[in-house]
Amino acid sequence: MSQSLTTRLLHADRLAGVEHGAVHKPMHTAATYSYPSASELIAVFQGQASGYVYSRQGNPTGASLESKLVMMEEARAAAVFSTGMAAISAVFLSLLKAGDHLVSSRFLFGNTNSLMQTLQGLGVSVSLVDATDVAHVEAACRPETRMVFVETIANPRTQVADLAGIGALCAQRGLVYVVDNTMTTPMLLQGREVQASLVVHSLSKGIGGHGHALGGAVVDTGLFDWSAYPHIAEPYRKGDPKGWGMTQIRKKGLRDMGATLRAEDAHRLAVGAETLALRVARTCANALQLAQWLSAQPQIARVHYPGLPSHAEHERAARLFKGQFGCLMSIELREGLDPLAFLDALQLVILSSHLADNRTLAIPVAHTIFWEMGQAQRAAMGIAEGLIRLSIGIEDLADLQADFAQALARI
Ligand SMILES: *Cc1c(COP(=O)(O)O)cnc(C)c1O
Repeated sequence: MSQSLTTRLLHADRLAGVEHGAVHKPMHTAATYSYPSASELIAVFQGQASGYVYSRQGNPTGASLESKLVMMEEARAAAVFSTGMAAISAVFLSLLKAGDHLVSSRFLFGNTNSLMQTLQGLGVSVSLVDATDVAHVEAACRPETRMVFVETIANPRTQVADLAGIGALCAQRGLVYVVDNTMTTPMLLQGREVQASLVVHSLSKGIGGHGHALGGAVVDTGLFDWSAYPHIAEPYRKGDPKGWGMTQIRKKGLRDMGATLRAEDAHRLAVGAETLALRVARTCANALQLAQWLSAQPQIARVHYPGLPSHAEHERAARLFKGQFGCLMSIELREGLDPLAFLDALQLVILSSHLADNRTLAIPVAHTIFWEMGQAQRAAMGIAEGLIRLSIGIEDLADLQADFAQALARI
């Protein structure tokens, strides 16, 4: 009998065997692990026996979360990191070298966009294209292109990348295809469905959900042939080539760079993940109804939400995300109305830069998260100066609608 993801997540720890019949794995906060003999310690170090050596490169509490991510993505392997940005940095820095070329989206999470500039400083060239059409990605590819990196639903304007088309292109050309699945979570999309090689997640967002722990993950879907990838270092070209990429990401990106997830946070994120299906269903339903209601308000000029038929990629989103459209939307008020006054008038909705929390959050985009890049780049990314980003939570819809209604009435 094949059980649902939620059922399997809830029982995973217990069925893997925990002392005293505990329903959760204990939190292992030990920095280091010991062995009764030198030969056993050596076997673990040399990869001939499985085990833990020093917590920076892996510990049992992180491993329990990793096994749940593998379950969620129906993937081959996962590694967890201290933050989503640490996970993304680990992918780039462990797999790319100076002289390589990376294709990514013009519509990217702001800090990932900033990281692209760091990469360019290290000699990796980067092309940022409109990834809603695979033709733009294909046109940007060069002989030295190694990797394509896209997000599922772009923040804050909610463009939906041509995920399946890019997957087919990458498979045909042997490119590593990295999909940031943070905004959709495995509930809306599994990376393997669009032929992703690697999936990255900010666990700080929907998977954790409660806004009380940071974390990130890299997941290997098992679809990429690492034996054909030229930058896998000699010591990691051992055993099944399907494992080579993850070994290098763990050794270089986690062990050497050191952005390890704390056991306390791994435990919190794993507990949060148990209710992911419930929370996603609720936030998606709330967001769709609010998007429809906001579109009908005379003070609102535009609502960007993939669940609305007016959205450019609505049909693609409906097909890929199984009829759910996520918790993220952005809105523009009518000319002459002050977005900051609207935000100040909100009483229940919180002004915050976080995303995919249980609570509903709002932020003026141009003044905050996209401030550093300047107006010209914002315009190129399609970000209006008055754009307000909303991340819809699990509150009662009527309470949220009442708060937006009273705030709109006051401006
Ligand atoms: C938040 C976010 C990240 C970064 O994750 P952190 O855990 O905050 O470091 C990366 N990608 C996307 C799409 C995000 O929303």
